[in-house]
Amino acid sequence: MPSYRDLLKEAKSRIREIPTSEAEARFHDDSATFLDVREQDEFDAGMIPGAVFIPRGHLESQAESKLLDKRRPVVIYCAAGNRSAFAAETLEQLGFEDVVSMQGGFGQWKNEDRPWTTPAVLSVEQRDRYKRHILLPEVGEEGQQKLLESKVLLLGAGGLGSPAALYLAAAGVGTLGIVDMDVVDASNLQRQILHNVDRIGERKVDSAKKTLTQLNPDVDVVTYDVRLGADNILEVIDGYDVIVDGTDNFPTRYLLNDASLLKRIPVVHGSIFRFEGQVTVFKPYDGPCYRCLLPEPPPAELAPSCAEAGVLGVLPGIIGSIQGLEAIKVALDLGDPLVGRLLAYDALEESFRTFNVRRDPACPACGESAGEIVIAEYDDLCLPHATLANGSTTDH
Ligand SMILES: [Zn+2]
Repeated sequence: MPSYRDLLKEAKSRIREIPTSEAEARFHDDSATFLDVREQDEFDAGMIPGAVFIPRGHLESQAESKLLDKRRPVVIYCAAGNRSAFAAETLEQLGFEDVVSMQGGFGQWKNEDRPWTTPAVLSVEQRDRYKRHILLPEVGEEGQQKLLESKVLLLGAGGLGSPAALYLAAAGVGTLGIVDMDVVDASNLQRQILHNVDRIGERKVDSAKKTLTQLNPDVDVVTYDVRLGADNILEVIDGYDVIVDGTDNFPTRYLLNDASLLKRIPVVHGSIFRFEGQVTVFKPYDGPCYRCLLPEPPPAELAPSCAEAGVLGVLPGIIGSIQGLEAIKVALDLGDPLVGRLLAYDALEESFRTFNVRRDPACPACGESAGEIVIAEYDDLCLPHATLANGSTTDH
């Protein structure tokens, strides 16, 4: 009957081991996924940053759902380098092509002063609340923790801001800033689902905060009951990871565009008009900006007052929800956000179309020869429907 020592020796003879120095080189050039096979309490006390966590007892059942690419090299570690040797053998049996075990384990790694961190730990309640996120390997506990640490600013607690705010709060975005200087009016309730009849006459930001805090107490709702202007915009948007733009007028959009370029904060832009809506993501200096699409506001006589324009209920729910989704993708660096693409929705046809939009090399704000960005205000034009000025092609 072989002893534990015999089994370990045999396992080590069949797998490949690397020293911590080589593991650290692979950590820095990101040429391998690190897999932690210790128990939860060991992991919670310290881990190699970015490591995937699967306790050894769950390795067979979870490896394929948490390590998506069997061709990507895997460096396995445990506390001292023994459990990881057995785990390496298991992964090889499961068909992973390039697996190594780290000699000396996390204990030696930490003693040698190599990079490690304490994982942010979700509470039992949070693990339950965000279970459906955690089940997605592309999000997981790490992604949920990232959402809880992210800060999203919503411009407007109206038609677009309402669904975006509700879903972002439900998803556990840790800080939600809301800018709005209006009060709740009965005519808002046809589409602005953050508010209700009891809140008529109340500040919109206060009503929004009540609704969102009741939905998810994890979320810190920061309210700005101000008119966004050249004098305060840089201060308000500072420190946010993503901005969801639900405003309905040109002056604010240009102001926001210039300020977000200056601060390099991505903006999820949405607009609605009658039965149509549009969404795109302006990622500073990576994709086009608002001025690349629309260098100058249309003349005042062509811009109808937003107060007069009708909009079908539900439509802002669809567009605002897409904005919320794009904000989460940007925050988590997930999938392909609508950078360089404009999604147009027609409610009457029930159709979505995507247009490619390009950066304009001659853009007055982000172009190659653009001067220094000056934050200035514009005349009070109002047209809640952005039209493409140039640089667009249909993408069928
Ligand atoms: Zn531009």
